[in-house]
Amino acid sequence: MLLRPKSLRSEALESYMIRLADLYGYTSQQLIERFHIILDEEDQKLSGALPGNLWQLNIYHANTSSSFRVECLEVLAEKMGRGRLPIMELAVYRSRTKYGLRHHSLFWQGLDIPRFYVRKECIPVCPLCFQEDEKPFMPFYWHLHLVRACSKHGCKLIEQCPDCMESLNYIHTGNLKGCSCGKEYKSMPAEIAPEPLIHLAAKVQEEKVTAENFDNLLFELEDIHQLFGMILWFYSYVAERGSKRSFTDETLLDCIAFFDKWPQNLHTLLKEKIETAIVLADRRFSETSFQSIFRNLLFASKRLPSNVLSSNPVLKEVFTYLDQCIHADNELSEIGYSLLNGYEVATLLDTDDEQVARLLDEGKLPVSKRLKDSTAFNPKIPLFPLKSTFNVWLAGFQSRLSNRHIYMSRW
Ligand SMILES: [Zn+2]
Ligand SMILES: [Zn+2]
Repeated sequence: MLLRPKSLRSEALESYMIRLADLYGYTSQQLIERFHIILDEEDQKLSGALPGNLWQLNIYHANTSSSFRVECLEVLAEKMGRGRLPIMELAVYRSRTKYGLRHHSLFWQGLDIPRFYVRKECIPVCPLCFQEDEKPFMPFYWHLHLVRACSKHGCKLIEQCPDCMESLNYIHTGNLKGCSCGKEYKSMPAEIAPEPLIHLAAKVQEEKVTAENFDNLLFELEDIHQLFGMILWFYSYVAERGSKRSFTDETLLDCIAFFDKWPQNLHTLLKEKIETAIVLADRRFSETSFQSIFRNLLFASKRLPSNVLSSNPVLKEVFTYLDQCIHADNELSEIGYSLLNGYEVATLLDTDDEQVARLLDEGKLPVSKRLKDSTAFNPKIPLFPLKSTFNVWLAGFQSRLSNRHIYMSRW
């Protein structure tokens, strides 16, 4: 196979494969079969690591054998005629970076992208891009829930075929020109997108955003990973459960609007939680867990994807607000007596629960009640008053990138 399409920088691997198949008059399924033949000749073990369909070809889909999959694609990239195929450059890999408590991420062209952002069912398109482009391709960005508008044409991406109402998904149909019913992408009607969604799409695509009319933290962030982290934090902490936690134009607009007034909106949200706790409290704060007031605030706010205050704007603002409350001369200061569990202490001190157990053992962590036997320490139990733990942080756990000065300097 000597012919090859020129790869385009942001093109999805699956899109490139369909163009390669088109060049030879194959369907994408036939191309995959051809790959199997090439690999069989090289090493049968490798052929087994290649899936039977385009949908699962990308490296991150391989479960236990992703290094085999890499080897497979390496061999294909080399074997297929003169010059390598740009498979490795376009592929999406698994990443070690985790966001928040448990969000895994994928690695694509230098970016750690939360897996939560990758679309599964539908891959939408911009009809105007297809009107302009003689040789259509699908940018990987359209695989992401955060990209809901075309930053070039200012229109909404289309998710559903206007004729047959099927969800659009070019990987399943192997077709870069239109829906399986025959309706071409370029003749689908374009609809103007809300401006914040256009800005967000541009920001995610690392294009220059001229958002002068927008005073919004998301558009001011310099590192795209902070943007990924903050939007993820919104969906896992601020958005209510259920449909509010899935991506639609509406929920994403809500999310952007939340960061319009930053940090006031965060302060208001946390203040409401404290006030509710004060109203509902049938016991003293010294017997109330931090988690019953704020839910998983500390876990959701760490690793966005950074743990240090200087590069995690959410965590920095959470520390700022808790610090203000603890030292306030009103009833908000009561939360200083609420109790953290061992995991939350570990988050606050940016350490792990083993070190928390050690500190406890050495008597360096104040507790609300004496443990009979410190070897029986259970990190799930709320035991550590917030204010005293905060003082432990001040006394010995600040660092160059995580210290009180980082947020105090703004007061
Ligand atoms: Zn477009
Ligand atoms: Zn259709």
